[in-house]
Amino acid sequence: MEGCIFCEKNGREIIAENKLAKAFYDQFPVNKGHTLVVPKRHMEQYFDATLEEQQSITRLVYEVKDILQEKFQPDGYNIGVNVGQAAGQTVFHLHIHVIPRYRGDVEDPRGGIRKIKKSMVPYRLEGE
Ligand code: AMP
Ligand code: ZN
Repeated sequence: MEGCIFCEKNGREIIAENKLAKAFYDQFPVNKGHTLVVPKRHMEQYFDATLEEQQSITRLVYEVKDILQEKFQPDGYNIGVNVGQAAGQTVFHLHIHVIPRYRGDVEDPRGGIRKIKKSMVPYRLEGE
């Protein structure tokens, strides 16, 4: 879609891709290696993907994990999707966050993504 930063090349290097999905590093990474896996077709939400697209996306998440593991040797991962503005989505082209986690990167990691209502991770959008 015109004007969509994830449809356009946006200067990001594609680190992996398959027929229906592509992956690139997040411009404002929460941790080293923070990657986004997105469908090539423009769609707003996770639930808009076809089964075939879901499969491509999932396969790419696995591939990205292998790449990140080799490159950064993280100790764990958070994998997540923000669906809708109420859930914190700010870029309205479906994307799966693959966030490598490193021992000691926060004081108390217990809870992981369960902490979403407490810990906000602000980032700057382009042009702000
Ligand atoms: P969300 O809040 O789930 O919609 O996440 C949007 C993500 O896109 C955030 O993690 C941003 O850091 C990231 N982001 C914003 N603009 C860009 C961009 N041009 N290229 C890559 N990632 C971006
Ligand atoms: Zn798009």
